[in-house]
Amino acid sequence: MTAAPLIDPFARAITYLRVSVTDRCDFRCVYCMSENMTFLPKKELLTLEELDRMCTTFIGLGVKKLRITGGEPLVRRDIMTFFQRMSRHLDSGALQELTLTTNGSQLARFADDLFAAGVRRVNISLDTLDDAKFAEITRWGRLKQVLEGIDAAQAAGLQVKINAVALKGFNEDELFTLQDWCASRDMGLTFIEVMPMGDLGNENRLTQYWSLKDLRARLAERFTLVDLSERTGGPARYVQLAETGQKIGFITPLTHNFCESCNRVRLTCTGELYMCLGQEDMADLRAPLRASGDDAQLAQAIRAAIARKPKGHDFDYSRATVDGQMTRHMSHTGG
Ligand code: SAM
Ligand code: SF4
Repeated sequence: MTAAPLIDPFARAITYLRVSVTDRCDFRCVYCMSENMTFLPKKELLTLEELDRMCTTFIGLGVKKLRITGGEPLVRRDIMTFFQRMSRHLDSGALQELTLTTNGSQLARFADDLFAAGVRRVNISLDTLDDAKFAEITRWGRLKQVLEGIDAAQAAGLQVKINAVALKGFNEDELFTLQDWCASRDMGLTFIEVMPMGDLGNENRLTQYWSLKDLRARLAERFTLVDLSERTGGPARYVQLAETGQKIGFITPLTHNFCESCNRVRLTCTGELYMCLGQEDMADLRAPLRASGDDAQLAQAIRAAIARKPKGHDFDYSRATVDGQMTRHMSHTGG
């Protein structure tokens, strides 16, 4: 890399790009999407070639880690071509990690190809191990298909981490079932607090909110929790269960302030760059990308955007109403 790295106004180096490659999904998780979603017309989306140019430009500016997300990234047509192309940056050493977050439904088809493209770890979202509850929370999903996807991922050699959204009255009773299941399969487990994204009024995030402080206290009733110093530059904090050696993560955007070490930005499938998940400000990178075949203009627009990265977000559940609420759906910015 010859260009100066991306440093924001708060002296944070931006080395992690999360890219949403589609707003579409084969599930309709209640906390993420409404049942009747209107998706973007195809012409609005960056093509796979444009996504390649975007990511390559970011990598040229010092991004070391790329996480592909959505919507459901594996429902985008021909997405394996994109992963295969990105693997050249792993080969050159410019990129340290290429990874994805997926609902797992398509992994039985794609796990081997992902491994061949250099992916070594996947995050798979799964909130429950109960068939009926899975159908309820995802509306359109089938648990069996996801479990087969997880089997395929592990068989392909991918390291799996399970992400579960902590939902009051929904998976509270499965805390130890999920923990035990992940331990038995040698998979990491991270809990996420539900965030006030794209709330349409029909699902009330406040009643679904299960604080991870409470979840952690319940884990501590059965295990000795050892805090790990490991930091990913994001909202995750980790503990080790002394009795099993298992690592459990907590993503607590609402009860903890993690912004001071934030190293990431998010690109939507239309080329909007969100400098903070919890703020509305974004930069349109599609226009500079399409304006010229050379990437200098794009690189300049990226630098100008990073110079606007805010200090932090304003989510707050501590009052009776949800403050700092975003009207955007999670699937838009990419989780
Ligand atoms: N479809 C893929 C999946 O489900 O893993 C990738 C995109 S999804 C938007 C990424 C993550 O965001 C998932 O783990 C999902 O559970 C989480 N998520 C979606 N809506 C959320 C919300 N309102 N609060 C917290 N996490 C949310
Ligand atoms: Fe789809 Fe993931 Fe959102 Fe569920 S959380 S609707 S799987 S994008």
